[in-house]
Amino acid sequence: MKLLVTGGAGFIGSAVVRLAVARGHEVVNLDALTYAACLENVAPVAGSPLYTFEEVDIRNCPALDTVFETHKPDAVMHLAAESHVDRSIDGPGDFIETNITGTYNMLEAARAYWSAQGKPDTFRFHHISTDEVFGSLPADPEVMFTEDTPYDPRSPYSASKAASDHLVRAWHETYGLPVVLTNCSNNYGPYHFPEKLIPVVILNALAGRDLPIYGDGANIRDWLYVEDHADALLLVVEKGALGRSYNIGGCNERSNLELVKTLCAILDELRPKPAGSYADQIRFVADRPGHDARYAIDPARIREELGWQPSVSVEQGLHKTVEWYLQNEAWWRALQTRAGVGRRLGTG
Ligand code: NAD
Repeated sequence: MKLLVTGGAGFIGSAVVRLAVARGHEVVNLDALTYAACLENVAPVAGSPLYTFEEVDIRNCPALDTVFETHKPDAVMHLAAESHVDRSIDGPGDFIETNITGTYNMLEAARAYWSAQGKPDTFRFHHISTDEVFGSLPADPEVMFTEDTPYDPRSPYSASKAASDHLVRAWHETYGLPVVLTNCSNNYGPYHFPEKLIPVVILNALAGRDLPIYGDGANIRDWLYVEDHADALLLVVEKGALGRSYNIGGCNERSNLELVKTLCAILDELRPKPAGSYADQIRFVADRPGHDARYAIDPARIREELGWQPSVSVEQGLHKTVEWYLQNEAWWRALQTRAGVGRRLGTG
């Protein structure tokens, strides 16, 4: 397939780009290169004849039309977004413009291109979204997000993603655009931008700094290794049923405190301190406003209909992730000087 991947210089998008090229797909990576982007993430495939980069902002409609006309993709995988909840609390405007208006622009550019091609039903617009659109779950482990869970977003980020999901479904129902959607749980792994919890913990631990935990650390997230997410996304764009959405999760629920303690134990093993444990650096800090208590995905649909399952447990994935950060200091050091990185954001 010829895939147009938006946001391919970000964390998840770059994992999709690397995996797609490795599997022999042609990839056009469209990215505006915001503060969250890093072209180093796609360096392993940048020299491939299967790979092309377009520095384009999804808020620029004429540029989007040109990309579609030039490259004539078989499918779009739309990941470009403002993605950091804390930044959405400090400055929601960018989230509205990129996540909502930008997705609208992508839908209109895709619809114009698809119509000009004679509306082939083989075309796909795959919208990549988050489980955060479903809101916050109670502690009961029997209760999980399914594809039928009503939307209840509670942060500017998740509200903007929910709005974009609604637009994508509306373009399918109203114009017949062949869409598929996915809603995924928290990702982690290599190339994770150093403002998100897992890299913050690893890098602060190594620097001897405090390991900040919001509130009491009891908030639960369902963790998925990013390369397993990329594998699921390629499966859905190839085999997903038209108009259908799929929840993707690793069945790996951990409280933030458990997760941080696990990371500390892995660091104690791989890079022991002269004395004590990295867990001694844990500090509880003021909670995030509106902090969702629990996310948990029921991935039964993608498992039963498409045969997908994650390849690694969270323990294996976290081990690989810590090893990657230990081996790739040049990558993360270069990003630590970017605006906002290393500062507490989103205190409201
Ligand atoms: P990221 O912030 O690492 O990357 C986003 C990319 O989009 C960056 O390369 C950025 O430059 C690009 N971008 C931002 N605004 C743009 C614009 N206006 N025009 C063009 N490009 C723009 O994000 P991520 O964590 O890789 O998330 C990718 C997608 O997956 C997002 O849509 C996000 O909502 C979704 N998602 C993320 C997670 C997670 O745990 N990170 C979980 C589920 C879903």
